[in-house]
Amino acid sequence: MRLWPFVLLGLAISAHAASVMEGTQAWPKATVAYHFEPQLLKAVGATGKDCTGWARWQHATQAYKACAAMDAWTTATGVHFVLDERRIDSLYIKAGSTATQATLGHLPAFNRMEIEAGATYGAVLHEFGHVLGLMHEHQRPDRDQYLTFAPFLRNDIDYCGLTISAVCSDVRGAFPIVRVQMSSDYDPCSLMHYLSNQTPRHREDPRWGQIFTLTKKGQAALDTCTQQFMALPARCRKPGQKCAISHDDAMIVRRFQKVS
Ligand SMILES: [Zn+2]
Repeated sequence: MRLWPFVLLGLAISAHAASVMEGTQAWPKATVAYHFEPQLLKAVGATGKDCTGWARWQHATQAYKACAAMDAWTTATGVHFVLDERRIDSLYIKAGSTATQATLGHLPAFNRMEIEAGATYGAVLHEFGHVLGLMHEHQRPDRDQYLTFAPFLRNDIDYCGLTISAVCSDVRGAFPIVRVQMSSDYDPCSLMHYLSNQTPRHREDPRWGQIFTLTKKGQAALDTCTQQFMALPARCRKPGQKCAISHDDAMIVRRFQKVS
């Protein structure tokens, strides 16, 4: 769900426009080098260091979810994932203790992903979207045509400024508009959109249970894009679905990573 704060800060400075933030870099040759923390492989009884045999691993494990997510992104986009633990830019996939999060796009070094023990497959799929360069859909410059934020959050977005509080530092990290270098039409079906219900962020305040509603234009966009998910459960046909890579997510990744 989250991005490393230092990455966001670094990119916000150079940022320019929609589904891929300005400043984000593509992976060389549309190929992500990765390696696992040994304990994740040990937990599934892997015989090697890569995803070989992943489909037979225990589904509740971090390594299974990571390998299933990489497979889904390769199928949807043609981007490749290859084991390479020597490269300094190799994506290090490790257990997370406090959050499930990843770096954004390709960094020259120290690309990483942390996966909590209880993270869902959908959350891991979302984090790989960040690794492939996708930003949060609800942070696009055109989002206010599609979403109406709850008044309390609108107020925080507009007035938190540099206020030091847990809520304001969260709002600064997850909700400001950022500039984009590449985008589709606004996609409420994106895997990279947030759910309206953000209760887990701040359990002490029930208002986080509904942080936005769709505008008329947003609802129309949702009615159109959900057609692609008619075979999936109803929970997959709302903004913030963590079920599948949307057509537009895949299209933008193919264009950004220059998949040939
Ligand atoms: Zn995220």
